[in-house]
Amino acid sequence: MMAIFEYAPAPESRDVVEVKGSYGLFIDGEFADGGGTPFKTVNPATEEVLAEVATATADDVDRAVRAARKAFDGWSALPGAERAKYLFRIARIIQERARELAVLESLDNGKPIRESRDVDVPLVAAHFFYYAGWADKLAYAGFGSKALGVAGQVIPWNFPLLMLAWKIAPALACGNTVVLKPAETTPLTALLFADICRQAELPSGVVNIVTGAGETGAAVVSHPDVAKVAFTGSTEVGRSIARAVAGTGKKLTLELGGKAANIVFDDAAIDQAVEGIVNGIFFNQGHVCCAGSRLLVQESIQDELLDSLKRRLGTLRLGDPLDKNTDIGAINSAEQLAKIRSLSEIGESEGAERWSPACELPERGFWFPPTVFTGVAQSHTIARDEIFGPVLSVLTFRTPAEAVEKANNTPYGLSAGIWTEKGSRILWMADRLRAGVVWANTFNKFDPASPFGGYKESGYGREGGLHGLEAYLDV
Ligand code: NDP
Repeated sequence: MMAIFEYAPAPESRDVVEVKGSYGLFIDGEFADGGGTPFKTVNPATEEVLAEVATATADDVDRAVRAARKAFDGWSALPGAERAKYLFRIARIIQERARELAVLESLDNGKPIRESRDVDVPLVAAHFFYYAGWADKLAYAGFGSKALGVAGQVIPWNFPLLMLAWKIAPALACGNTVVLKPAETTPLTALLFADICRQAELPSGVVNIVTGAGETGAAVVSHPDVAKVAFTGSTEVGRSIARAVAGTGKKLTLELGGKAANIVFDDAAIDQAVEGIVNGIFFNQGHVCCAGSRLLVQESIQDELLDSLKRRLGTLRLGDPLDKNTDIGAINSAEQLAKIRSLSEIGESEGAERWSPACELPERGFWFPPTVFTGVAQSHTIARDEIFGPVLSVLTFRTPAEAVEKANNTPYGLSAGIWTEKGSRILWMADRLRAGVVWANTFNKFDPASPFGGYKESGYGREGGLHGLEAYLDV
């Protein structure tokens, strides 16, 4: 990208992690072959095949659920303080093996090492520490302390290890056992986590990892001995899971898509807001369910804000995810790249104006430049559909009431951001925004103590914090 500063390459060594040629399923404390045809996982930055990974069939899923069911009696009967010891141990091993986890996450997912190292992995450890702290205090949470049984958990590819932590840590703290299916394009850190469970001497069967495609996920959620289903991913698959689970008595939480408004008022600190906009939509290549993908800017400051934003985007560095200077890594898969391209083309054809900074894309791998669309109307597809990529749609407003109306004009309701110097306006807006999380003068801030979840088509149930325990207890 624009060479305002020249940076010497600062690649993180990939030797810190051993990527094996092939990986099996993790069932009942052992790595095992799967009955399906193994699949390949690639490094999206180079298209190099990283490893071959086992596909779990319905029979394999059944073995995993039975192992989890068998382990449940012992695990749920342990005093909370004993379960906490395992969770604390896992959290400490995650910290000890942080570099290994971060490098593997960046290799398999394409996200910059700066993010996997400074955001994902520290939050993963923090999540385990946080829920370890709850394990012996469940009686004080107000939801009882009776575990549900086997939790079937299906997670996406945008934050592979962090979503695993959001699912596994509260489940285990409450005394459940789990069968987790990672996404097909990012299975490797979940399998490294399986190794961490062994290192922590977690009793066999408490955590089981089954890899495979959507069919494997469907087998997990529909297994009759699964008592609780937790899913993060697309609204479409979320809907099919809700249908599959309806009437079975299984407890369900869904964390689905979003189309968040990041709202900037004319009294906001512009430079700070620009950083927040960049973080809101270009963090993790925009593969973020709560991404600030719709910028709502007050009309009077539109030109000033967009000039600053464009200048800032010119300084972002796109390229090798393992380079510590990199701001924007690779798009996770060819399919996702095709989806981002197609929605961007629709944006242009519907009349919005497309802009990207001068930016050289690597020849191999899946890449998309940071992109800003201006002149976007509420009826445009790019103002309504989740693009899940580094693409920002800019709309304007004149009054706070108009900002609220436009922000809420979406089938989703996961998050929102407000930028203003006025505290009273923040509270007024937060009261009216139909979003699970509202950030003020910041964006994409996560903390294990803070609940996260959506309204409307963004799903139901909360993960994180005290609220996150409710989903894993027989309330
Ligand atoms: P999916 O919802 O398809 O994938 C999420 C997880 O569900 C994956 O592990 C997937 O397996 C699994 N899965 C797929 N089909 C089923 C099924 N029928 N039953 C049970 N599990 C299933 O998301 P995609 O990866 O296809 O992404 C599509 C779009 O979804 C993105 O472009 C983005 O807009 C949105 N998305 C939103 C996310 C969020 O956090 N809100 C996260 C990811 C995507 P497999 O990986 O093998 O397909």
